[in-house]
Amino acid sequence: MIEQSLLNSFPGLLSVRNLEHQIIYVNDNFRNWIHRYTDVDPIGKTNLELISILPPNVASTFSQCHDLSLDWQKNCTSTENLKKIIRFENQIGSDEDVQFFDVLKYGMTIEGQPYIITVGYDITDIYLENLSHVDRLQRIVSVDELTGERSFFKFKEDAQILLNNATNPHYSLVKLDIENFKLVNKTFGLNFGDKILKNIALALKSTLSAEYEVFSRISVDEFVILHRYDHPDDFEKFRASFIAAFHALVQQNNDYNINFKIGQYVLSNENNAMLNITEAYELVNFAHRQAKQNADINLVVYDETFMLEALRQKRIESMMTKALSNHEFLVFLQPKYSLTTEKISGAEALVRWKTHDTKQIFPNDFIPVLERNGFITKLDMYMLEGACKVITRWVEQGIKPVTISVNFSRQHLNNKNFVSEVCAIVDRFKIDRKLIEIELTETAMFDNMDLLEDILASLHDAGFTMSMDDFGSGYSSLGLLKNLAVDVIKIDRSFFVNQKNEARSKAVLGSVINMAQQLGIYTVAEGVEERIHVDLLRELGCDMVQGYYFSKPMPEHEFDALLLDKSR
Ligand code: C2E
Ligand code: CA
Ligand code: CA
Repeated sequence: MIEQSLLNSFPGLLSVRNLEHQIIYVNDNFRNWIHRYTDVDPIGKTNLELISILPPNVASTFSQCHDLSLDWQKNCTSTENLKKIIRFENQIGSDEDVQFFDVLKYGMTIEGQPYIITVGYDITDIYLENLSHVDRLQRIVSVDELTGERSFFKFKEDAQILLNNATNPHYSLVKLDIENFKLVNKTFGLNFGDKILKNIALALKSTLSAEYEVFSRISVDEFVILHRYDHPDDFEKFRASFIAAFHALVQQNNDYNINFKIGQYVLSNENNAMLNITEAYELVNFAHRQAKQNADINLVVYDETFMLEALRQKRIESMMTKALSNHEFLVFLQPKYSLTTEKISGAEALVRWKTHDTKQIFPNDFIPVLERNGFITKLDMYMLEGACKVITRWVEQGIKPVTISVNFSRQHLNNKNFVSEVCAIVDRFKIDRKLIEIELTETAMFDNMDLLEDILASLHDAGFTMSMDDFGSGYSSLGLLKNLAVDVIKIDRSFFVNQKNEARSKAVLGSVINMAQQLGIYTVAEGVEERIHVDLLRELGCDMVQGYYFSKPMPEHEFDALLLDKSR
């Protein structure tokens, strides 16, 4: 029929089909090309069969080249040869795999039988060389190198077009990333990390509709998706199928559980402004950040309060530096009472922020913001100074001083000079270091135990009273205490408030106090509001209580009055 060796020496990819779309001949070049993707012998296979075997991205371009339209079939039966050029981009994964072919099709009748001959010339080199700078740039800006999918730039363009053209748009913008992707890279290597990212792209591609939905990698492991839905439940279905598709792709490496953090912003067509992709992206970012900040939550849907909260935080940040120099932060003192004498035996310094317009802001509303931006370390030192001033004044006025405890954020633990800075401040006032108690919360105690042990020991050796705050509110264990130079534990109010099983909580509380006693550690119960708790704590051997039952935090001069009142 056809001289085999002659066709085999043909430089391009060549295949011959009958009108049933069945391949009846391929040359070696074609065979080698197809074997990059599958071991299947192409002979006897129909186009459809091959397409179902090839990877999806190869299959789609392959089907373009071998599409046998009715037109073709008709023309093939004529004796006239036909020629058609298809230039296509066979994009597989990264840029190195991009191939460009000129594809020509000939219809011819041999011995009365119609055949279709397809030949493809690999013109990748010539094509890339001749790409104009503009085209190259266009490619770079529109394609993400790693996944081979849309770039973020192109995503924004295409997503906006979809939104503009949607007649009844039910869309949401979704942002996702892998929890702790750095750890994945560190543990399994960058190649594995890249594979994971490519698989995310593949899983998204297989789950989303190419017609109505788009996605893109933003950077590193972050992806953005414009998701269309008919019912609100559809998002959950999409999330489940995406995750299932992803896990199916990576199942060979199943010893690490990859978790996605997802933010969602529902675009509404009631407010046209919200159909702007750039604005929507700002908002989905809020939601995504919330999901990342919260260990227990993987999906956060944006709502209006996010924006208000972000604005509030910004306002605090813009005010804090001036507030510190304007002395808007005040030292309030809350007394601690001895349970044996029921007299004041100490105080905790708690910050109050009186803004210039005399509004009072409570610590829980601004401390978390200052913790995040690091300003808390300045505030804590300011409060330490404030406590020293109070003690100095008491001494000068002949009032017998009590120990004042000052709260220190965990942020200080990263400061190599923390201990010396604390000493320098206190020594400037020439007061007994014993009168200053340093409170660190138990969560500060976890991250780096060795470092913490050193810092606590240094401060303790320097003569300060060391106190573990919020004991029992997190994961604190009594075992932790034996290695730490802790003088006092502050038992969190959650120990005795809202406890369902009274006998049990009494037993736990009792054993905490007991153990502390054996280690020579003082116990202060915090947040005590009721007489029954005072009595219970005394019975269990607790040393001190601090709480509204006796007194709320108050300005220093009100505290003076309490100290001077001999009956207290
Ligand atoms: P904390 O150190 O556990 O302080 C005790 C909190 O419990 C104080 O809230 C206090 O007013 C409140 N409290 C006292 N007695 C009772 C009671 O009987 N019932 C209830 N429900 N609450 C009671 P405050 O002053 O709003 O401070 C909240 C948190 O802010 C503090 O918790 C502390 O973590 C932080 N904080 C306050 N001042 C400073 C500071 O100068 N530096 C740092 N780093 N954190 C501070
Ligand atoms: Ca405290
Ligand atoms: Ca506390």
